[in-house]
Amino acid sequence: MARADHSQRPAVEYDGVTKTFDSDGGEVVAVEDLDIQVRDGEFLVLVGPSGCGKSTTLRLLAGLETITDGEVRVGGEVVNEAKPKDRDIAMVFQNYALYPHKTVAENMRFGLEMTSDLPDDAIDARVNETAEMLSITELLDRRPDALSGGQKQRVALGRAIVREPEVFLMDEPLSNLDAKLRTEMRTELQQLHEQLGVATVYVTHDQTEAMTMGDRIAVLNDGALQQLGTPLECYHEPANRFVAGFIGSPSMNFVELEYTPRTGVGRRGDITYEVTDEQSTQLGDRGHVTLGIRPEDIELATETGPATVVASVDVVEPMGRENLLHVSIDDREVVASVSGEYDISIGQDIRLRFPRDRIHMFDSGSGETIF
Ligand code: ATP
Repeated sequence: MARADHSQRPAVEYDGVTKTFDSDGGEVVAVEDLDIQVRDGEFLVLVGPSGCGKSTTLRLLAGLETITDGEVRVGGEVVNEAKPKDRDIAMVFQNYALYPHKTVAENMRFGLEMTSDLPDDAIDARVNETAEMLSITELLDRRPDALSGGQKQRVALGRAIVREPEVFLMDEPLSNLDAKLRTEMRTELQQLHEQLGVATVYVTHDQTEAMTMGDRIAVLNDGALQQLGTPLECYHEPANRFVAGFIGSPSMNFVELEYTPRTGVGRRGDITYEVTDEQSTQLGDRGHVTLGIRPEDIELATETGPATVVASVDVVEPMGRENLLHVSIDDREVVASVSGEYDISIGQDIRLRFPRDRIHMFDSGSGETIF
């Protein structure tokens, strides 16, 4: 399928988009002042906790919700008022949304018949080509109740693909599949994406799925965009404490420190951190800061040293290559991931080091990243 070269133009643009719902208790702001551009051919994942506004963001693009304020554009055209079928998009739902009385082939034809005036034989050709691509040719005459969950998901994808839209929209499409099938389908979706090169907006609450699938991810919280970047940017350079805690598993540890600008030392019980000159300038005259460190960045210290801290082991979770340690450092619970070759038991005292170059620091009030 040859596609025009739109490389300079975003496939989708959210420009200052706000959506409010009227509810019994008053007005609910589901999405606020959202600016997102989805590049042509990009796989963009919308991720965030339950209720953060992911589905609403997708439904606004699909035309299933009306926009309260701002503008949504698909392929450069404003679609605020356009009916769903007149937007150049195809959506894949979590519950597959197949017509139970239609065969697989009829399900795949239907959307295309509604939105295009292609002749029958051209429609047949596209359905067959797509079925082959998805290895569902032998299922074309079956009805949905004779399909497994994975097969239904393939048919739902097939129905979207035959339409050759500008954008695919996917709302948690893998969440009804068991863990093994979900992992397989993730890979398959990525391969399909490579093959088709069509911009895709994919919603999930699962940060692992976001990290593994997204070219870029848009992290949402409370209806607001927190960060838009590649998975590694969000992991290594989180914009704020929320992104730092949401991206990465197990989650980043946070410790509130009392900070003395004069001495450049942050302290909480046995945990101390002495800043560099440059960091001291960045921290300014703050009296409190939040230190963040990822479990995988904490090191087991074999000898006593100035930058180490004693921790008491509460729980050991053997993960194979690593042991996940839940430890107490005076009154703080901290999670550390250390090599599985160390034999560590519950109740033991160990020494941990927080390497200076792995420390993140956040403003205790706003949560914004300081460094
Ligand atoms: P989940 O992962 O649980 O599906 P989500 O991130 O997709 O959540 P949305 O479904 O977009 O979140 O909801 C965002 C906010 O808007 C929530 O507070 C929700 O209660 C509210 N909301 C969504 N749809 C409606 C509606 N039709 N009427 C009123 N409030 C709504």
